[in-house]
Amino acid sequence: MPVAEAAAASPDAIIIGAGIAGMYQLYRLRQLGMRVKVFETGSDVGGTWYWNRYPGARFDSESYTYGFSFSEELLQDWSWSEHFAAQPETLRYLNHVADRFDLRRDIQFNSHVRAASFDEATRQWTVTLDTGERHQARFLITALGPLSADTLPRLPGVDRFRGQSFHTYRWPEAPVDFAGKRVAVIGVGATGVQVVQTIAPLVAELCVFQRTPNWCTPLNNRPISAEEQQRIKASYPELFALLRTTPGCYIHDADPRGTFEVTAEEREAFWEKLYGEPGFGIWQANFRDILTDPAANALLSDFIARQIRRRVQDPVMAERLIPKCHGFGTRRVPQETRYYEAFNLPHVSLVDVHETPIESITETGIRTSDTERAFDIIIYATGFDAITGAFDRIEFQGSDGLRLKDKWAEGPKTYLGLQSAGFPNMLTIVGPHNASTRCNIPRCIEQNVDWVTDLLRTARQQGCTRFEATPAAEAEWTAHIDTLAEGMMYAQINSWATGINTNVPGRDVRRILQYQGGAPAYRAHCDAVAAQGYAGMVLE
Ligand code: NAP
Repeated sequence: MPVAEAAAASPDAIIIGAGIAGMYQLYRLRQLGMRVKVFETGSDVGGTWYWNRYPGARFDSESYTYGFSFSEELLQDWSWSEHFAAQPETLRYLNHVADRFDLRRDIQFNSHVRAASFDEATRQWTVTLDTGERHQARFLITALGPLSADTLPRLPGVDRFRGQSFHTYRWPEAPVDFAGKRVAVIGVGATGVQVVQTIAPLVAELCVFQRTPNWCTPLNNRPISAEEQQRIKASYPELFALLRTTPGCYIHDADPRGTFEVTAEEREAFWEKLYGEPGFGIWQANFRDILTDPAANALLSDFIARQIRRRVQDPVMAERLIPKCHGFGTRRVPQETRYYEAFNLPHVSLVDVHETPIESITETGIRTSDTERAFDIIIYATGFDAITGAFDRIEFQGSDGLRLKDKWAEGPKTYLGLQSAGFPNMLTIVGPHNASTRCNIPRCIEQNVDWVTDLLRTARQQGCTRFEATPAAEAEWTAHIDTLAEGMMYAQINSWATGINTNVPGRDVRRILQYQGGAPAYRAHCDAVAAQGYAGMVLE
């Protein structure tokens, strides 16, 4: 559509992305009476849950803590079938939300945004799609998702393989037939773990290529009984009030005791109990110092290592599966269901790619330094250029031609993780330096979106056509982010949370990308800024 034509029908705001964040932001801006246009690469709503259709994909936070909280009718209307729902159910839920609130009429699907630039003269953003189609709006809201820039390994031959191969994020809609197949899985993060445990019983041969093992703990999932369903539905207000008090908006909160304030027997019994309970308790409801005191962390890591040795029959295999270079919980903990038992199956093997690196993908399989193996299917569970990667893949240009990519080359600089100086009228939901990427994410998305909505309401009421974070406020927030991460063990570890990705040039230096002060403190910061008439921002 030519610009002039598009301008005639210009929306007030453009949202990029129709996942959980984009959907809720659309709903809220409509309530303000704003005209909104959403652009979405996929052919339907759902974001993360639209793309990640790989076998075994499911929640790792409790289903009823994950859904939207803004509508009591929606909460009562929807019944989750399991404590940790699988991806098809979550996608059905998000479709149900889209139908219920008639969201699709403002979403343009199959529309990938290539560039977005701000024009000072008109105080408008122009968004350009892959097709060349352009659209303008006063406000631009990114809802890109923190884990949406998928990355394949930088290995020779990735495109030469003649069998089937998929990155888990690009999983096809049509079912993949695993029966009788020789399958390779590269990567053992939370995604690889879910894939491995799910397909192991289905395939003829499974070979897992592991570079860094992770500390995985049992999900202990089960169906929700009728009585539980009733209890859950009757207690949503209390549940969401509780979630507002915990650092990650999970149902679990840290135990106030220190690891060494109890006897060895009490400690062991406590850890046994947490290991047997559903969900993230062993990570989030553990002693308060497990992620800051290396001695406490070492003890806990030893406990988990013993569980792995107990569950894996072959001692050599067990040792390979036990992380040696990082402590428990310093990387995101994959939640598993009989993952370790998969390695007891005679047709499942494990290749340590530190010992025998992958040299290339061949037409028929994978060549490591010692041998070549043939496969019918290769699954790349190799992760993402996390948090900032999706921003880098769009050409964002602010005032005076400033490119976001250049500005953030040494690490993001933001105000509240929601704005960046030099990019007026742009808001980054679930952006870097924001509490949301260490959060039971819909809870933090709702906070981000509500804050953005209040800002746009105020801007409207004041007749403001341009707002921007000041460089001073941005510098102060960015320094605050760095300070909060000091003394945290995770900050010394390579993972997506510290911005490391060996498959992306330049992503080999750790960066502080997340707000580490916990969601309640983050919310208080955002609320204080709003209460002070948007301190640290200039509203014109
Ligand atoms: P990830 O945690 O970054 O894991 C990627 C894996 O691929 C790692 O094991 C990595 O090894 C390996 N890898 C990457 N490039 C490789 C190469 N060239 N050669 C060999 N191995 C390579 O990504 P993810 O598993 O997709 O998970 C990302 C995040 O998504 C999770 O941490 C979690 O927050 C979220 N997630 C959530 C759920 C859920 O249950 N709700 C499920 C899946 C994912 P290194 O560790 O050595 O780099």
